[in-house]
Amino acid sequence: MPLNRCDALILKTFPYRDADQITIFYSAETGQRRGLARGSRRHKSRMCGALQPLRIVQLVYFEKQSRDLVTIDTTAVLERFPRLEDSLDLLTRGMYLLELLLRGTVDSQPQPPMYRLVTKALRLLNEGQGNPDLIRIYVEYHLLRLNGVLVDPSVCEACGRSTGTDWSYFDPGLSRHVCRDCHRPRDPGLAICGANRQFIEALNRLPIANLPLLLLTAPAAREIGRFLGAQLERHFENASRVQHFSAEIDGTPG
Ligand SMILES: [Zn+2]
Repeated sequence: MPLNRCDALILKTFPYRDADQITIFYSAETGQRRGLARGSRRHKSRMCGALQPLRIVQLVYFEKQSRDLVTIDTTAVLERFPRLEDSLDLLTRGMYLLELLLRGTVDSQPQPPMYRLVTKALRLLNEGQGNPDLIRIYVEYHLLRLNGVLVDPSVCEACGRSTGTDWSYFDPGLSRHVCRDCHRPRDPGLAICGANRQFIEALNRLPIANLPLLLLTAPAAREIGRFLGAQLERHFENASRVQHFSAEIDGTPG
């Protein structure tokens, strides 16, 4: 069995059998993976504290080619986010970013930019740098972009014209973005103004380190959040169809 080593962000851990745990982690090298940590719920196990969500750990694990579940051998905590653990609001925000990785990425498909994006966003939250709503919006935007499912906010998908500075509408059911002329009053659609669309487009070129310099009002954050959130729900539905939840958990891995 090949032995592997990686730095990984722990997304979720749940008990398995009497003394074991299964953990879902994300690393730049492996993408989202699941690992069995034998005996990790025992009092004396060093792995017990390490395999908690919102920890970056170094994992050493064994992999069998025929199985999706790896066997974790040792762990060492590399980084924690103590400020997130002290505040319910920040903890909820941090857990939401993990949820984005969990639901928005496909098993075993490494996307190093996704790993860097979320870990950098967690550091900003932990350091109290930047508007937390803006950090969330930035991660949502880039998750959609990196997965190739971001709606181009500058173009109407019905007539092909630029949406300019006017209002436009996103229909979550059809996953379609149209200009004011193509939107009929009775059609469902989330309205978004030109200024907020331009703000979204500017995120493409903005390094995450510059987020603390940016201002975003609460109403703008809500409108942009709804626009991206509707696209994310659509993406989550498609991503979950691709996930291969095989019989790994019922097997006897290792
Ligand atoms: Zn149009």
